[in-house]
Amino acid sequence: MKRLPKYIQQTQGKLWLTEDDRDNLKISYKIKEVLFEATSDFQHVMILDSDDFGPMLVLDGAVQTTAEDGHIYNEMIAHVPLILHPNPKRVLIIGGGDCGAAREVAKYKQVEQIDMVEIDELVVKASKQYLPQVSGNLSDPRVNFIFADGVAFVKSVKEKYDVIIVDSSDPVGPAVQLFESAFYENLHRALHDGGIMVCQSQSPIFQPDIMKQSYDRIGNIFTHHQLYTAVVPTYPGGLWSFTIGSKQPLRSVEQVVFDKETKYINQAILNSCFQLPQFVQDYLQGE
Ligand code: SAM
Repeated sequence: MKRLPKYIQQTQGKLWLTEDDRDNLKISYKIKEVLFEATSDFQHVMILDSDDFGPMLVLDGAVQTTAEDGHIYNEMIAHVPLILHPNPKRVLIIGGGDCGAAREVAKYKQVEQIDMVEIDELVVKASKQYLPQVSGNLSDPRVNFIFADGVAFVKSVKEKYDVIIVDSSDPVGPAVQLFESAFYENLHRALHDGGIMVCQSQSPIFQPDIMKQSYDRIGNIFTHHQLYTAVVPTYPGGLWSFTIGSKQPLRSVEQVVFDKETKYINQAILNSCFQLPQFVQDYLQGE
């Protein structure tokens, strides 16, 4: 029998991917086919065709994005900071190897440069080839791929950006430092005066401690910080958090007109995404 990749089990003739990196939760997806598998210098990379979510990117056994719901996360992490910035011209993406965030940023005609600093070139190659539903086979000439560690990049970068999007994987392996205060301080330095940063800040249900830690750390460094949420079915708990840090007060969402072609975010979602469930507000306010 052909060797099954790590993280895949066969039960009664069916293939399953099981995410079991958490102490209290296992999630299994029925798999039709392994489209791609390789181990890079940084992580184990797979693209799996799944029954419910279509092709999905899986890093070290954890689902990162899928053909069916990847747009929700990518639209929310890209459009919210871009629409709140009055004139974004230079955008930096840290991580984001599936190219979905870059694809959304490219919808803004006024953006002149999109630097994408991804540590693992293999994620980009695999996503472009096997996950065009998310990557959109991105070939926009404004996108400048830099294959490097985002932590080291922002430490030494001289140029300044209008918007920085931290589209990282969970805080394990190469992404650990993307959740640390020293990194947020370097983001602050790499932003223009009116600059805005955003990061994914994990699940309010399963990782409220990491969410609050990111929120507090960003709040200690940036004059203004705000958390918003979206529902992403393939992320544990569904509800997902994002944290914005900005040097200037954020424009009110009611002041902006959302006019991009999207599948999830629209004017009403934008107007409501900063309205937080009571348990999230309580957790963020707790000492
Ligand atoms: N949407 C996804 C999620 O929340 O699960 C994340 C998508 S994206 C695939 C995350 C990317 O961050 C991966 O491709 C990974 O290689 C990259 N990454 C992790 N650590 C990094 C670092 N230190 N510098 C640059 N990229 C990094």
